[in-house]
Amino acid sequence: MKGAVRVGVVGGSVAGCAGALAVAEAAPEASVVVFERSAGILHDRGAGIAIHRHRFAELAAAGFLDASLTGFRAETRRWFAREGTAEDPPMGKALGSHPFPFTSHSWGELYRHLRGRLPERVDYWSDAQVTAVRPTAAGADLLLADGTAESFDLVLGADGYRSTVREAMFPGVVPQYAGYLCWRGLGDMTRIAGLPEESFFTVGHATGHLVAYPIPADTGDTALNWVLFSTVPPELSPDPTTATSLPPGAVSEALLDHLETVISDQLPPYWAEAIRTTPHEDIFIQPMYDLEAPAFARGRLLLLGDSGAVSRPHAGAGALKAVQDAATLATLWPQATDLDDLALRYDAARRPAGHSVVALARRIGEAQVTNVPDWAAFEEPELLAWLETLTQAADGTVMGGRPL
Ligand SMILES: Cc1cc2nc3c(=O)[nH]c(=O)nc-3n(C[C@H](O)[C@H](O)[C@H](O)COP(=O)(O)OP(=O)(O)OC[C@H]3O[C@@H](n4cnc5c(N)ncnc54)[C@H](O)[C@@H]3O)c2cc1C
Repeated sequence: MKGAVRVGVVGGSVAGCAGALAVAEAAPEASVVVFERSAGILHDRGAGIAIHRHRFAELAAAGFLDASLTGFRAETRRWFAREGTAEDPPMGKALGSHPFPFTSHSWGELYRHLRGRLPERVDYWSDAQVTAVRPTAAGADLLLADGTAESFDLVLGADGYRSTVREAMFPGVVPQYAGYLCWRGLGDMTRIAGLPEESFFTVGHATGHLVAYPIPADTGDTALNWVLFSTVPPELSPDPTTATSLPPGAVSEALLDHLETVISDQLPPYWAEAIRTTPHEDIFIQPMYDLEAPAFARGRLLLLGDSGAVSRPHAGAGALKAVQDAATLATLWPQATDLDDLALRYDAARRPAGHSVVALARRIGEAQVTNVPDWAAFEEPELLAWLETLTQAADGTVMGGRPL
């Protein structure tokens, strides 16, 4: 497909930057405008991201990532739980370990890496909120918060889990609260003894589990990225219809107190202390959601990243999936006869992939948070057999995502 089309991208985060890059690379004659409602550089969307190295290599070959993105190579994932006996080691009972070919990165660096790859001719508008999307016969109009409107031949919805573009395509299709949340933070590695950078740990507890791994933090130091998943009592549950993430500084005392109760009562002391190295004002919360848009394209509107499919973080594939969406778009562009054909091909390629990651992550979350096993009873063979059934889907989707 050739021609000077005008492409609007709503959302300028991981999916938005990757999507704009895809169009710029695949269609040098196209003009691309990115609308990002936040002002300035995004930095507070997430702390750590772990990416499967085989998936990273595919995206590097496709021209979206490269080795300049710093990261720590994990080789092994190690599982622990508190047995509650006087002989418990500080990290808890070692339940088992298995190969884990993931590299941990900082979310902020991944975003800057993608944004830095955008050629000059991509117009990136910050502080530009799209308030409504109006499909037209030849594309779509975007209405902006400043009262202006822009017309496009094609619009990429890269505007995350509460997407305005998706709402225009499928009114009322919204994320479904999964019944639990996570506290997140960056621990101070100078106060946490005994963790090499090449580490990836999971610690089971009675209402969920903790995931912890070092990352190269935005400050230049090494930090311990930790994510504690847990169900919470009804009085602390977020409103399932409207809840959004609570950024650092906005988490209530009641939720911080509950975190302290979970880590003191349920975690081995080593891990509780590691979490306590994060000041309360730096801890943030993300409610867990599932979302599968019925299609990833409708007319001239396409969905990329979380706007089309939100997977719980357990599959370690959300950001990766967003970049894969973009890479697929770049591959399909030259094959498509026109924009309508492109939309059909894109939906056929990416909807099954997105839905499959959501399903895998849901299955892991149900088994490891809402219906936890007796973690401390596991011996390594049983643990590994259980994990194998949980983390592999029949269609080839595995922990870390699906091959591109
Ligand atoms: C706890 C946790 C851990 C995770 N760990 C991993 C991991 O290890 N590996 C992995 O691959 N993924 C992981 N993920 C998932 C990953 O962070 C997301 O899937 C990914 O960031 C989604 O990117 P996105 O660009 O689609 O959406 P977002 O990052 O949400 O970006 C959407 C953008 O659109 C903008 N926007 C929204 N509405 C509008 C509008 N109306 N107008 C203009 N702009 C708008 C927003 O400001 C935002 O910048 C994790 C997620 C969580 C919650």
